[in-house]
Amino acid sequence: MIKKTITLKILFVVFSVFLVTALIVMVLADYHLKSIIDKSQDVVYREKLEAILRTMDLQVQRLKATGLREAYEEGFKESALRAIRSAYYKSEKMQIYPFIVNSKIEIVLHPEYQPGSMYFSDEKVIKNAMEPEEGDFLFTHRDEDTDWIIFKKFDEWDWIIAYHVPLEIKYSAVSEFRNGFILVMVIISLIALAILSLMITGAIKPIVRLTEASTAMAGGDLAQHVDTSGDDEIGILARSFTHMRNSIREKIDDLARKNEEMLKEITDRKKAEKEREKLNEELMQKNKELEQVVYVTSHDLRTPLVNIEGFSKELRISIDKLLSSLKKSSISDEVKEEMDSIVDGDIQEALHYISVSIARMDSLLSGLLKLSRIGSTELNIEKLDMNRLISSVLNIFKSRIDEIDIKLEISELPPCIGDELYMIQIFSNLVDNSIKYLDLSHRGIIRISGYSEDSQAVYCVEDNGFGIAPEYQAKIFDIFHRLEPSKNKGEGLGLTIVQRAVQRQSGKIWVESEPGKGSKFFISLPGV
Ligand code: ADP
Repeated sequence: MIKKTITLKILFVVFSVFLVTALIVMVLADYHLKSIIDKSQDVVYREKLEAILRTMDLQVQRLKATGLREAYEEGFKESALRAIRSAYYKSEKMQIYPFIVNSKIEIVLHPEYQPGSMYFSDEKVIKNAMEPEEGDFLFTHRDEDTDWIIFKKFDEWDWIIAYHVPLEIKYSAVSEFRNGFILVMVIISLIALAILSLMITGAIKPIVRLTEASTAMAGGDLAQHVDTSGDDEIGILARSFTHMRNSIREKIDDLARKNEEMLKEITDRKKAEKEREKLNEELMQKNKELEQVVYVTSHDLRTPLVNIEGFSKELRISIDKLLSSLKKSSISDEVKEEMDSIVDGDIQEALHYISVSIARMDSLLSGLLKLSRIGSTELNIEKLDMNRLISSVLNIFKSRIDEIDIKLEISELPPCIGDELYMIQIFSNLVDNSIKYLDLSHRGIIRISGYSEDSQAVYCVEDNGFGIAPEYQAKIFDIFHRLEPSKNKGEGLGLTIVQRAVQRQSGKIWVESEPGKGSKFFISLPGV
C-alpha cells in the first residue's frame, strides 16, 4: 500500500513536470519554427512573384517595342497569361498556385475561377489588405481552411499578382515536427516512467520494510529486524527505529516485571489482610469471651460479697452481745479488760477494714459490670442535640458545682450522630473528672466547646485543675489506672469506659494537658 502510494506520488510529480516542460518546449518550438518558416516562405514566394513579374515585364517591353501599344496590348496580356498558366498550372487540383486580380479584385487569372468573376467573398477587406504595393495576409475563403496570400502589384496593367498557399501546407513542417515530438515524448515518458518506477521501488524498499516492521510492532511483534547499515536518511531512520523498538521492548519488559511484583505484592497483601481479618475475628471472639467472663465474675462475686457483708454485720451484733455479757459476767477485772481491748479494739478494727474492703470491692464490681455492658448493649444511633444533652448532664452535677462555686463556660455545640445514653455516660464521666481533679486553691473553671471539621463533630471538656503530666497522658485510659489514688476516690475505670463508649460510636478521644494548668479532653464523632 505505502509502496504504491509513494511510487504513484513521485511518478505523478515527475510526469507532471515532464508534461509541463514538454508543452513549453512544444509551444516555444512551434512559435520559433513558424517565424522561421514565415521568413523563409516570404523570401521563396517573393522570389516566385518576382519571376512572374519579370515574365510580364518582358511582355510589356516587347509591347512597347512594337510602338503600337493600344493595338497589341490585349494580345500581349493574353500571351503573358498563357505563359503563366502553362508554367504554373500543372494540374486542376492545385493547392499552391499564383493568381492575378485587377484593382477591383476581379479575377484575371485563376486555376478554377473564370476571368471577371469575384473570387474573394469579402471584397472590402481584401481591397484594404491589397492596398499597398506588396504584402501578405491571411484569408479564410468561404469558411474553408485559412490560406496565406502574398502579393505584389503590377501597375503597368493594373494587376495584382498573388500567390495562394494554404496555411496547412505552409506550416506542414511545424505539424510534422509536432507529431514527431509528441510521439518521441510519449515514448521517452513511458521509458522514463518505467525506469523511474523501478528506481523508486528500489529506493523505498527500506521504507517499506520499516513500515512492515512498525505495523508488526503495533500488532505486538517486537522481534522485527530492519537493516540499519545505510548511511543515508533512511539508514538514520532505520537506526532510530531500532533504537525506539529496543527502548519500547525494555519498557515493556520493565512494565511486565513491575506488574509481576505488583501482583505478588497484591497477593501478599490479600494474604496478610485475610490473616488480619482472621486475627480480628479471633480477637473479637476473645473480647466477647472476656466480657462474658468479666460480666459473670463481677455478677457472681457479688453473692459471696453480700454474704461477707451479712456475716460481718452478724459478727458485729455478736460482738456487741459478747461485750454486754462480758460487762455483766463475774470474771476478774484484769481478764475483763484484756478481753474488752481485744473485742472492742482489734476485732472492731478488723471489722472496719472488712466493711471498707467490701465497699471497695462492690464499687470495683459495679465498674467492671458497667465496662462489660458497654461492649454488649445495642446501640441506638441518631442525630443528637448536644446543647440539650450537655445541659442535662450538667444538671446532675448542679449541687456540687454550686457548692464549690465552679465557673461554667458553655459554647454553642454542633450536633453529632451517636447513642444518647452513651453520650450522657461519656460527658458525665468527663465532667465528674473535671470537678474531681480541680485545684481548689483557685476558682475552678469548666469550659465545654465544640466545632465541626471534615464531617466530624469535635467536642472539648476543659478544666483549670491539676492537669496530667505528659508521661501519664496515654496511661489514664488503661483499666484501673489511677495517678494519685490517695488524693481522690475512684476505681480508675471512668476513662476506660469513656474510651470504649466513644470507640463503639466510631469516634476518637484524646487529651491535651499541662500539669498545674488544666486538662482538655477532646472527643470527635461523626458529624451531621
Ligand atoms: P478515676 O477518676 O476513677 O480515678 P478515671 O479513669 O476517670 O478514673 O481517671 C483515671 C486517672 O486520670 C485519674 O486517676 C486521674 O489521675 C486522671 N484524670 C482523669 N481526668 C482528669 C482531669 N480532668 N484532670 C486531671 N487528672 C485527671
